[in-house]
This record gives sequence, C-alpha cells and structure tokens, in this order.
Amino acid sequence: MTFPHGDATLSHIVPWLDDLLQTDVTPDYSGAQNGLQVEHVGPVTGVAAAVDASLRSVEQAVAARANLLIVHHGLFWAGARPVTGPLHRKMKLLLDNDIAVYSSHLPLDRHPTIGNNVLLAQEMGLMPSTLWHPYKGVPIGVVAEADLPTAQLAERAKVFAERYEHHLVVTRHTPDRRSRRVAICTGGGASSESIREALALGADTLIVGEGPHHTAVDADEAGLVIMYAGHYATETLGVAALARVVSERWQLPWSFLPAPTGL
Ligand SMILES: [Zn+2]
Repeated sequence: MTFPHGDATLSHIVPWLDDLLQTDVTPDYSGAQNGLQVEHVGPVTGVAAAVDASLRSVEQAVAARANLLIVHHGLFWAGARPVTGPLHRKMKLLLDNDIAVYSSHLPLDRHPTIGNNVLLAQEMGLMPSTLWHPYKGVPIGVVAEADLPTAQLAERAKVFAERYEHHLVVTRHTPDRRSRRVAICTGGGASSESIREALALGADTLIVGEGPHHTAVDADEAGLVIMYAGHYATETLGVAALARVVSERWQLPWSFLPAPTGL
C-alpha cells in the first residue's frame, strides 16, 4: 500500500519507522537517541540517507533538496553539550532548511531485512542462519553457514570495502583455509567479547567494520580470521535501504549521501 504524497508528513512516517525498526523495544547506547531527533514543518518532499549526521551530510542534504535526513549515527553521540561551533552550524542549517533528522542505530543494525548485518551478509553472498552478539540481551549480528575458501570470502569483502574507498584488513590465513561458519557484526564489531562469543559459536571467520589492534592479535592466536571491512563501509547499507523503503511507501525521491573518506 502506498500513501498519496499529501500524507508524507512526520506524523505518519515517524510512527511507521519506529514500528518497522522496533525502536521502542531495542536497547541502545544513550547517545544513540533513536527515532526523530529534529522535527520540521514539512511535509516531507525528499529523503536522504547518510551514515553520520555530520555537517557534511547536512550540507549534502541541503544540496539534494531533501528535507528528511535518515542517519545511523545521530546528532547526540557526545551527549548534552552547548549548541555552539560545528553543532550550531549543523542545527542552523537543519532548521533554516526545514530538514528533519531521523536516526536509527542498533535497531537498524539488527533489522532482519533492511539491517546492516543481514545486508552485509548478502553482499558477501552468505545467507544468515542465526543471530548473535547481544547488546543488553538483544542480538545484533548474524551468523551464516558457508563452505568456501577464506581467501575467496576476503576477496568479496575487499571488493565491497573498496567501493567505499576502504582498504580491507584481514588477519593471517593459509591459502587452503576454508570458512565454514561466518559471524558478522558491522561497525565497531571486533572486541575481546565478540571474539569470545564467536569462538563459542564455533565461528571460524568474523567480518566486522573495525576493532582495536589487540583483536587481530587475539584472533590470530585463537585461529579465528577477522576481516575488517571498514566501520563506515559496513554501515552504509542499512540507511540506504531504510531511505529506499520510505521513498517507495510514500512515493518520494531519495538519495544516498556518500562520504568516500568515511567522514
Ligand atoms: Zn557504527
């Protein structure tokens, strides 16, 4: 079902998004502030998607004539702070141009059809079979069964990362090694905890956005291969899919606002 253009207002779109993403029941970091972050007078006439609610993204949204900006990392990660400097410039641009901001972090990471993790699995040619890596009891990542050379999977991850100008880093593996169970967690997915969980799940390969250096050392010692495909790159998929479904439902133009350097 599609709505006529006249119903393309935040009063319709925001509850629909909150319901789709299960925003209210998905725990998250306090800075995420999932949901509508900035309202506007409206109606919505154009949708834009960006990974970060950066000044650059806001400037791009203005140039694209979009007045609903959908992001993964919202405006308030740093918590309450004075609206001065770059934050003031951003807020002024948003308000002067009547641009609303909707942000979705973990709800978008974990969504079963338009989530970052499930879409990254698809990009890797993998079919998720189960969920893993809970945050406050709610699993965020996906696990996929596979049987292919680790080098072949790394090549797919390399091609994907390079689309976003990211240089893939992969931990050591032999030419004949095969990946049979692959755990995926986009963004900052590599940590001591996620390595422990991945090994407990029987995963032999972990695909993440990024992680601290020690995770590569720890994984190598444990026989786990980690592919670091880029925090930015691995989180482009969900926001783009979310903007697309909104545009389809309300018959609105949409665009993805790229940040090739990740900023
Ligand atoms: Zn992230």
